Amino acid sequence: MKKALLSAGFVLCVLGFALAGWTGSAPGPDASLYDALARFHGHRCAGSLLGARMGFAAKAALGDKVGKGKLRAVYYAAACPLDGIQMTTGCTLGNGTIEAKGKEERRLVLSVDGVPGSVEATLTPEAAEQARVFKDLSKTAKGLPQRSPERQRAGERMEEILKALASAPEATLVIVSASQ
Ligand SMILES: [Zn+2]
Repeated sequence: MKKALLSAGFVLCVLGFALAGWTGSAPGPDASLYDALARFHGHRCAGSLLGARMGFAAKAALGDKVGKGKLRAVYYAAACPLDGIQMTTGCTLGNGTIEAKGKEERRLVLSVDGVPGSVEATLTPEAAEQARVFKDLSKTAKGLPQRSPERQRAGERMEEILKALASAPEATLVIVSASQ
């Protein structure tokens, strides 16, 4: 039953992506970024990928403010999305411009030093749902024997989700709002 529900949810989500594609929203990061992200992050997952999409969308929304000062990021969770955000914004732990505040809010705030205003990016309910489904599948797969067909199927579903999240129109995944 749970499996059927998950499948139905996935089909609905893919349909949603397809429909939203018609409305033509902004493209996401270049496909090559996801390979670099997987190497940086150590594994392929929905969380890091969605972090990349949030970071990319938020930086784009800052427009010409980018370049007028040091970019700063605050992400309200210490989890996989942080690495995607670092890759797409250039705000890193190493250069001291990203801060993780320990609430599970999946909310990114991006601002530029010395420039008023900020941009906030959060996930749409559809994106959050896909992240949840991916996490469940990942947990299930780890409990299955290495070469079992069930594990292979779970792996295939996970790949499908990653592919859909990488190519989905931005507006179906990320909600961006700006404050002056
Ligand atoms: Zn991860």
